[in-house]
Amino acid sequence: MRILVTGGAGYIGGVFVRAALAAGHEIMVIDNLCTGFEDSLPPEVEFVRADIRETRLLDPLLARADAVVHFAALSIVGDSVADPVGYYRENLGSFLTLLDRIRLHGPHRLIFSSSAAVYGSGEGRPFDEGDPLLPVNPYGGTKLAMEQTLAHVAPALGLNWLALRYFNAAGAVPGHGERHDPETHLIPLALEAALGRRELIVFGRDYDTPDGTCIRDYIHVNDLARAHLAALTALDRGVEGVLNLGTGRGHSVQEVIDSVVRITGRESVIKDGARRTGDPAKLIAAVKKAEECLGWQAQYSDLDEIVASAWEWSRSLYKDRG
Ligand code: UDP
Repeated sequence: MRILVTGGAGYIGGVFVRAALAAGHEIMVIDNLCTGFEDSLPPEVEFVRADIRETRLLDPLLARADAVVHFAALSIVGDSVADPVGYYRENLGSFLTLLDRIRLHGPHRLIFSSSAAVYGSGEGRPFDEGDPLLPVNPYGGTKLAMEQTLAHVAPALGLNWLALRYFNAAGAVPGHGERHDPETHLIPLALEAALGRRELIVFGRDYDTPDGTCIRDYIHVNDLARAHLAALTALDRGVEGVLNLGTGRGHSVQEVIDSVVRITGRESVIKDGARRTGDPAKLIAAVKKAEECLGWQAQYSDLDEIVASAWEWSRSLYKDRG
């Protein structure tokens, strides 16, 4: 299949690009590099540096594509709180352009990167796809708006689609991992702390969880990539709608810190801080629907394995071999 990957120079998009090439697909990437890195793209990729709204550049790619996998989006919760209008303009605005140009040029397959942020806080049990959608921050709001837009627009466009709700993407593959600037995610920050590059602040120890720190469902980024490949196949079997992508298991912030100590063998400077606005106590995926619809399962079931893959990447990023 010839696949157009928006945001293919980013963290999750880049891992998908590698997995798709390895599976024999032809890959075109459109990315404005606002958060991605051109040097992270494998040489086989046909790359166009452009914003999706540059339709003159987008249209010829769509015309040649058999499927679109749409990763491109802004994804920092704190930034979305500071600039909600900007977040809706960028995420929803470019998605509307993408759908409009798909209407004119095709293709008829679309995989969309959604997020567990659409659920909001919940009651602590694993979220399934039928749960109420009550995002607690503008970022989650943009993802929900995009999902709803897609559901309404797809029939008129003859578009087969899946929206994949990622829980906490984590880990790395050889040569490609998380590289956000500034970094806000727990595992890369904890690893930077292990490298002595910073201190780690634990955002709250007074949550209603066994050790008082927040619980998240960390899914290895290569498992996410594999799920996208399975989703492309599933589209042609008539599978459509929204699916959670997680492991179904949760780990607390303290458990992540303990894992980082085990994997790196280093003690870090860790301080206790206040809760971060908008952080739910517990976010875990119910994964049965994705497993059934995609014939897929997360292969990384162990937090230490995920942290170890991220550690390899962090060390190469910061050239630490010691
Ligand atoms: N977290 C933390 N310190 C940090 C960054 C994150 O304690 O410097 C916590 C955060 O409060 C949340 C968990 O780690 O409970 C995962 O946060 P992350 O930003 O990685 O992902 P999110 O769940 O917000 O998408």
